[in-house]
Amino acid sequence: MVHIKFTPIFFILVALLLQECTSRSTSSTSNKLLLISFDGFRWNYLDRTNTPNFDRIRKNGVQAVHGLRNAFITKTFPNHFTLVTGQWEESHGIVANSMYDPALNRSFSPHDEKANTEAVWFDQGGEPIWVTNQLQKKDGKSGVIMWVGAGAPVESVYPTKFIKFDHDFKNESKIDTMVKWFKEDGCNLGLMYFDQPDRFGHAFGPESEQVTRMIGGLDKVIGYLLDQFEKADLLHETNIIITSDHGFTSTPKEKIIYLDTFIDPETFQLESSTPVAGIWPHEGYHDAIYQNLSSATETVGHFSVYKKDDIPAHFHYTDNRRIPPIIAVADNHYSFSRHFEPGHMKGNHGYDNRLQDMHPFFIAMGPAFKSGFTVDMFQSVDVYPLMCHILGLVPAPNNGSMDVVRTLLVETETIHGNSVLLFFRKYHFGTIFVACLIFVGLITAILITIHEMRKRRKERSNMQVIMDDVEITTTDEGPANDPPTSDTSNIPLLQDQDF
Ligand code: ZN
Ligand code: ZN
Repeated sequence: MVHIKFTPIFFILVALLLQECTSRSTSSTSNKLLLISFDGFRWNYLDRTNTPNFDRIRKNGVQAVHGLRNAFITKTFPNHFTLVTGQWEESHGIVANSMYDPALNRSFSPHDEKANTEAVWFDQGGEPIWVTNQLQKKDGKSGVIMWVGAGAPVESVYPTKFIKFDHDFKNESKIDTMVKWFKEDGCNLGLMYFDQPDRFGHAFGPESEQVTRMIGGLDKVIGYLLDQFEKADLLHETNIIITSDHGFTSTPKEKIIYLDTFIDPETFQLESSTPVAGIWPHEGYHDAIYQNLSSATETVGHFSVYKKDDIPAHFHYTDNRRIPPIIAVADNHYSFSRHFEPGHMKGNHGYDNRLQDMHPFFIAMGPAFKSGFTVDMFQSVDVYPLMCHILGLVPAPNNGSMDVVRTLLVETETIHGNSVLLFFRKYHFGTIFVACLIFVGLITAILITIHEMRKRRKERSNMQVIMDDVEITTTDEGPANDPPTSDTSNIPLLQDQDF
């Protein structure tokens, strides 16, 4: 009988496996995630009025001090879908608030209730976080209040709970509903949309007193949310991410560029107008429209024009049939209009996503996040993989990265503090554990073989001694009982097995 002595490494491996299982079940079952968007909340809005509740989240959580680099074009529908899929607009297919699909020969409008429930618009390759949550987790339940795209099935999946956009739905009611979904209906993921301060930003301009007062009002909404979550004993186990789709800039009347000055409105269809004009030329007018606009960029200036194939790569805005053949992009503060169009907004968004004014804020708090920690900025496409990580999900294909957002997480510190654990996590603990077991098994098999071989050699050697003794006794040429002095086969084997 061969006795295998288990070495300390074996017990370390078992301990690490147990720790891994424990940490996975912690992140996958008890950690809840709530994603909140305040539409049009610019990266620096928190610094212009008293916001004790937002400050509580900053102090006890994390912040991107210069906000998020969002997706071009910096409009509401595309960026809300980017936040939940981690994809650029050309990949998830919501390329503007209003858009035309030549394959469907239909236009999409945010106010079209039917279109907002159709998979043909939203199920184009992006997988929203609620779908990932429900497909991968046996007990994954998502509650979604008014988020873009949640009314349509994606991969045939609807959110477990859903409330469609309703302007009259009270902020407090949204929060009470979310508490109920988490507490009574078993949701582990919640998403909430608020349409302010975007509406005031458009109506009064982003620098207006009305927007400042609205920021103070939204702080009270967060105060109510924190109170209700605390009362329901949810706050300690919920990760709360508060962000937005885009920032804002002022758009004075004197900075309007009238497109019909350079191009005949009868020669094209305009799907979205400002600050990115999406132009679908009627047949035969493509080159003339491009030439006229191109000349105007030099004579009038304050905007750029691109043929679809020449849109700069950094916009990630080329590879989708819904992107118009020609786009004109206004400079910051400038607007496009046509002389017959009524009205003008004092503030807008939609511009180049490299402009700081276009960036939304980002703060977060909860058991997964560090406390009082800041990073400079990261990308909106990184929010999806971050949420997947917190929920213990494998992200669907996306354009994001964990490089920066990983540093926001408490777990990173733990891993850095334990290089052995980091190694095992990096190279997949389970695989390495199985490999180690196979290694231990192989070594054991080799030792058993060596042991058996040596045993046989020893038996043969003893037999030889007996034969020699018989011979010596017979021939009487020396002492019969001299032990073999140079033969090592009698060395005990036990120490070889002690590895
Ligand atoms: Zn918006
Ligand atoms: Zn807006």
